[in-house]
Amino acid sequence: MKTSRPIRARIAPAAILHNYRLARESAPQSKAWAVVKANAYGHGQWRAVEALRGEADGFALLECENAVALREAGITQPILLLEGVFSARDARAVVEHRLTCVVHCQEQLELLLGSAAVVAPLSIYLKLNTGMNRLGFTATTLARAWQILREVPQVDVTLMTHFAEADGERGVSEQLERFNGLAGDWRGPVSLANSAALLRHPSTHGDWVRPGIMLYGASPFAGISAESLGLRPVMTLESAIIGVQELAVGDRVGYGGTFTAEQPMRLGIVACGYADGYPRHAPSGTPIAVMGQPTKTVGRVSMDMLACDLSHIPAAGIGAPVTLWGNGIAGSVPADDVAAAAGTIAYELFCAVAPRVPVIVDGK
Ligand SMILES: *Cc1c(COP(=O)(O)O)cnc(C)c1O
Repeated sequence: MKTSRPIRARIAPAAILHNYRLARESAPQSKAWAVVKANAYGHGQWRAVEALRGEADGFALLECENAVALREAGITQPILLLEGVFSARDARAVVEHRLTCVVHCQEQLELLLGSAAVVAPLSIYLKLNTGMNRLGFTATTLARAWQILREVPQVDVTLMTHFAEADGERGVSEQLERFNGLAGDWRGPVSLANSAALLRHPSTHGDWVRPGIMLYGASPFAGISAESLGLRPVMTLESAIIGVQELAVGDRVGYGGTFTAEQPMRLGIVACGYADGYPRHAPSGTPIAVMGQPTKTVGRVSMDMLACDLSHIPAAGIGAPVTLWGNGIAGSVPADDVAAAAGTIAYELFCAVAPRVPVIVDGK
C-alpha cells in the first residue's frame, strides 16, 4: 500500500543485475546461483528474480513452495533448495519440478529416494560439514550416503560445503582441507563459495558459486566498503523530516534522555523507527543524510521516529528528504556503515525492513 507517510524502500533492479554480473566476472570459470532466499534478503523475491531471469544460471532459495512458484512462473533455470526437503511432499515436488536439492543428512536422502525419485533423474547437492557444524555429512556419516547413492545411478551429485569464516582472518584453508579430505578422489562438480569466498578466495570457485549478499550491494567484509568492491546498492531506505526542534544546552532527546545537547543545536525528526525495520540499537552518531548532506542520528531510535542533527544543514526543514541508507541525492549512506554502528550486518537490516514500508521499484 502506498501511504503518504514519507518512508519508502526504493529498489534498483539494474543494480542487482550489475552486481550479479560482477559476481560472474569475479568467478569467470564458474556458474553462479543467484541466492534469493529470505525474500531476496528483504528486496522482494520476485523483483530479484525478474531482474535476473534473463541472465542467472540458477536461483537458490529455501522453501519448496517458492521454488515451485518460480517454476510455475516460467523459470527454466536450475533452482536449488538450500536446506533440502522437509517432507515427503517436498521430495515429490523436487522430482516433479526438476528442483536441485541439498541433501545434508541421511534422513533427507531417504525422503528423496523414497519418493518417485528412483524412476526420475535427480540432481542433489551433497552437503559436507567441514567445520561450521550446522548441516552436512562428516567422515562418519558420509560413507553410508555414498553406499546408498552408488545404487541409484540416475542421481547426479554435486559436492558442496559452506564456509564459516571466508570473510575473516582464518579464511577457508582449514575447511577446504577438510573438504578435500572428505571428497577423496571425487572428480565431479563442487560448489563452495558464498559472496566472501567468491571475492576473496579464488581457490574456492569450483563449478558453481553461491553469491547472496553481494547481489544486494552490501560488502561481505567488515571494514571493506561495497563501493570499493565495485558493488552498487540495491535498496535505498528514504524518508523525510517531519519535525524540527531547537535545543538549548542541557536539553535531552528521546526516550531515556540518552543524548544531552552540549551546545545549541537544531534537531530534525525523521519518519522512520524500529517498527519500520531501522535498528533500535543504532546509537547516537549513526550515519544518515539529509538533503544529501551527511549527518548523524541523535538519541534513541523509537518505534516510528528517530532524530538527527540539522545544525549544519540550515536549509533542511519539514519535508526535507532523508536517506537512512543506500543511494542519497548526493553520495550514499552505506547500509554496511549503519549496520556497523548498530552492531549488526547489512544482511539483517535488509531482511528487517517492515511490511509497512512501501516499496518503489526504479523504472516502474
Ligand atoms: C545464504 C547462503 C549463501 C549466500 O551467502 P552470502 O554470504 O549472502 O553470499 C550461500 N550458500 C548457502 C548455503 C547459503 O545458505
